[in-house]
Amino acid sequence: MEAISCRQILVRRTIFAPEHDDFRQSVSGFLQREAVQHHDAWESDGKLDRAFWKKAAAQGFVGFEAPEELGGLGLRDYRFNAILVEECCRLGLLPDHFMLQNDVLGPYLIDLANAEQQARWLPGFTSGDLIAAIGMSEPGAGSDLRGISTTAKRDGDHYVLNGSKTFISSGTQADLVVVAARTSSEARASGAFSLLMVEGGMEGFERGRKLEKIGRGSQDTAELFFNDVRVPVENLLGDEGSGLRNLMRNLARERLAVAVAAVAGAEFALEITLEYVKDRKAFGTPIGSFQVSRHHLAQLATELRSARLYTDRCIEAEVAGDLDPVEAAGLKALTTELQWRVVDRCLQLHGGYGYMNEYEISRQWRDARVQRIYGGSTEIMWEIVGRGLGL
Ligand SMILES: Cc1cc2nc3c(=O)[nH]c(=O)nc-3n(C[C@H](O)[C@H](O)[C@H](O)COP(=O)(O)OP(=O)(O)OC[C@H]3O[C@@H](n4cnc5c(N)ncnc54)[C@H](O)[C@@H]3O)c2cc1C
Repeated sequence: MEAISCRQILVRRTIFAPEHDDFRQSVSGFLQREAVQHHDAWESDGKLDRAFWKKAAAQGFVGFEAPEELGGLGLRDYRFNAILVEECCRLGLLPDHFMLQNDVLGPYLIDLANAEQQARWLPGFTSGDLIAAIGMSEPGAGSDLRGISTTAKRDGDHYVLNGSKTFISSGTQADLVVVAARTSSEARASGAFSLLMVEGGMEGFERGRKLEKIGRGSQDTAELFFNDVRVPVENLLGDEGSGLRNLMRNLARERLAVAVAAVAGAEFALEITLEYVKDRKAFGTPIGSFQVSRHHLAQLATELRSARLYTDRCIEAEVAGDLDPVEAAGLKALTTELQWRVVDRCLQLHGGYGYMNEYEISRQWRDARVQRIYGGSTEIMWEIVGRGLGL
């Protein structure tokens, strides 16, 4: 598939410098060479292609925020992270692996890990050899993180980990999992939780089946089980009792990443639909020329332009190191709900063809649905915004 220009719907953006434009071009070229042709096969395989990932890492597209001596580029500028996600979306590719590794796991491994931990894990992370995952959600606790029941009990130089996690992205192949566990019996106290790094191969760490999803086929999602896993104290991430605070801090950036993907994904869906409605005729005229279609598309394009500006404002805040969690929560809710309205209207405009898997819009529709759920559901996002209003 050719790169889509999005010229028809893009608002002028002011947050990028020439070095970002150069980076965007090289990301786009790399994805067109190394990803586009394989995307359908990756969807069938249902997981990340490690050979591709190593190539992406060799280009400097994985873990580039890490210090140079540990394989990164020392590049702390979220605009580069956003560009990777946007360029995937612009080519109809799933951005999830870049989002998960760079945007979600990066801060745990780079900011929270101590020097000894960084030396152990960052070289593999930046070379693409080590895939990381994060295990917060459990069968009995998703939105309500204080309901986590996985426990880590101190026993000498180890924590003994028991419990399970579900819906874990990259769970089937992760080499390292950040696991949120209860290290204190205080029921819902924020200091009751800690983060432990569980490594593939540790005795008692088992993976369940790969979960069958509606969409996002090339990302695997799995259940994880911990049965008396002895995790050395050296694998505690941050201080004991700081787990919830660190999760909350990093969730703002995760929500920004989901929003970046939502806006870019919606722009792509709208763009392919504009092409379609100019071409497809009914009653002797292109379907895009019916006033009802024109107005729907005009409204969505305008909403997308304004969502893009709000997203860029949050990207700038993240670059400056002051992304506000309330602002990020509102952004996630607004952009993912908009993405859903866009893809659903775009599928409708494709008529019956939109319901056929061979049409790209059907994939966009399937993949978009979960954006309103993971990283914190829309309802929880509005709760956060509501509390920010003092309500
Ligand atoms: C494809 C996929 C990938 C994921 N990847 C990961 C991952 O890598 N790591 C990880 O830890 N988790 C992951 N998740 C889990 C995801 O974050 C949770 O699914 C999400 O937080 C919602 O939790 P839940 O599914 O338990 O729903 P529940 O918490 O049971 O919520 C069900 C419904 O109730 C609503 N609700 C809950 N509380 C309230 C409230 N107070 N007010 C109003 N409504 C409320 C919710 O909005 C939702 O609509 C993933 C999920 C999916 C589907």
